[in-house]
Amino acid sequence: SKPIVAIVGRPNVGKSTLFNVLAGDTISIVKDTPGVTRDRIYADCNWLDRNFTLIDTGGIEPDTKDIILSQMREQAEIAIATADVIVFIVDVRQGLVDSDSKVADMLRKSKKPVVLAVNKVDSFEKFGNDVFEFYNLGIGEPVPVSAASRLGLGELLDEVIKHF
Ligand code: GDP
Ligand code: MG
Repeated sequence: SKPIVAIVGRPNVGKSTLFNVLAGDTISIVKDTPGVTRDRIYADCNWLDRNFTLIDTGGIEPDTKDIILSQMREQAEIAIATADVIVFIVDVRQGLVDSDSKVADMLRKSKKPVVLAVNKVDSFEKFGNDVFEFYNLGIGEPVPVSAASRLGLGELLDEVIKHF
């Protein structure tokens, strides 16, 4: 069967935006409200003749007591358990925050291949230098992307399919 690629990361980093661009439609709801996507959503995708199933997880929020967020964390954990490759998204505008490190720890424990996407790099001139701090997550080379401007997505998918 097809490999499964799960998009994970904390709320508002751009998971659903990336999912929608890669899925080529608007299955997933995108709102400014963090955590608006509560269910895993699946799409059939392909890149360079490699077919895979993409999952938009609801997000991971390891230390929260909030019910919705803890449910989303659970969904993300299911996605991690199911996925062959995990795309971990962070937000260059917010920089590296503590919950990114906690998510990175969860992902490292999963022992699954992880591709680190640094989203919202809409201008490489403006934000390119800020990408480097994400090396500190210790999960490999950050791939700068802009889901909204559709930049860097080919490079991202090249890294993803290397793990199939
Ligand atoms: P999710 O909670 O991780 O699913 O994040 P969303 O996909 O819902 O996006 C959260 C917010 O970030 C929305 O306002 C998006 O329009 C915005 N966003 C997503 N990708 C980008 C991007 O590449 N650049 C910028 N500037 N904003 C983005
Ligand atoms: Mg979402």
